[in-house]
Amino acid sequence: MDVSDGQKDTPRLIRPATDPQIDTDRCGGTMFCMAERTSGNPIVIIGTGLAGGNAAATLRDEGFAGPVVLLGHEPGVPFGRPPLSKTYLRAEEELDGWYVRPAGWYADHDVERRSDTAVTVDPAAHTIILASGQELAYDKVLIATGGRNRQLNIPGAGLPGLHYLRTKAECDAIKAEAAKGRRAVVIGMGFIGCEVAASLTQLGVQVTTVFPGEEPLERVLGGQVGGVVGAFHRAHGVDLRPDPARVTTAAEMGAALRAYRAWAGDPSFRTMAAASGSPIQPRASEQSVTPS
Ligand SMILES: Cc1cc2nc3c(=O)[nH]c(=O)nc-3n(C[C@H](O)[C@H](O)[C@H](O)COP(=O)(O)OP(=O)(O)OC[C@H]3O[C@@H](n4cnc5c(N)ncnc54)[C@H](O)[C@@H]3O)c2cc1C
Repeated sequence: MDVSDGQKDTPRLIRPATDPQIDTDRCGGTMFCMAERTSGNPIVIIGTGLAGGNAAATLRDEGFAGPVVLLGHEPGVPFGRPPLSKTYLRAEEELDGWYVRPAGWYADHDVERRSDTAVTVDPAAHTIILASGQELAYDKVLIATGGRNRQLNIPGAGLPGLHYLRTKAECDAIKAEAAKGRRAVVIGMGFIGCEVAASLTQLGVQVTTVFPGEEPLERVLGGQVGGVVGAFHRAHGVDLRPDPARVTTAAEMGAALRAYRAWAGDPSFRTMAAASGSPIQPRASEQSVTPS
């Protein structure tokens, strides 16, 4: 199922200041004691991931009745990403069970979903400049822009067949290539890399992995547990290519490059390399916040 509910980028409704009908019992210490709101401008939530979606839901659940704008550039409604490396990748379920709220909830609860990218936040002026060039006035702003995958900064990283995994669209691109009998290189064996390797293996894809250290998940779970995880993958036919030198990031990238070149140059590696999602880079550093 497409996560997108077909909502288009519609002009923001700037509603007049209304009585926010605050439940005063809940005001003490809650994040939205908005009785002192004066501007009539909305609370703007930047980011439509799990955090942004839950923030909007919580505002309404806890009685905030003022205007709320949920601003993001990812299509579809907020959802949890766990199935993207597991059940959704393996085509065992759709994503609607992972929606923060059903697609219709936002309109029903007067939460305006706006498709755009925040470029600059100016706390002094209480404005957000959008990639579209428009300016959005806010009363309060919540930056919930999460992270994005660390990008491979190596020659060949732009070649076709290399996928990152964080969004539904990226997952769909991997799914489209993950046919039985094909081959894939998974770069990075943290949690998501391990999950992708396992899911692709279950789909009949022959998986080779490259990663720093000696065992998958070693950096987070230690060598002993990593060894158990590695043994599990090997038992299911995954070709683990650890770097025994416990390499640095640069060397990790070199290992990725070697694997990718192997994939590109070796006709038996015909399908894809999947760069998995960990570690991520914070998104907030990509936005400019003008100091007040
Ligand atoms: C494949 C995969 C599997 C995972 N599995 C698990 C799991 O099993 N268990 C677990 O606990 N966690 C898991 N995670 C991690 C979990 O999904 C994250 O912790 C979660 O996504 C964080 O949510 P978030 O809303 O903070 O950020 P994000 O999900 O990163 O969402 C941020 C949103 O902000 C948007 N955005 C960014 N910049 C701007 C901007 N300037 N303007 C407008 N919008 C912007 C982005 O497009 C995005 O929609 C997984 C992650 C992935 C990718």
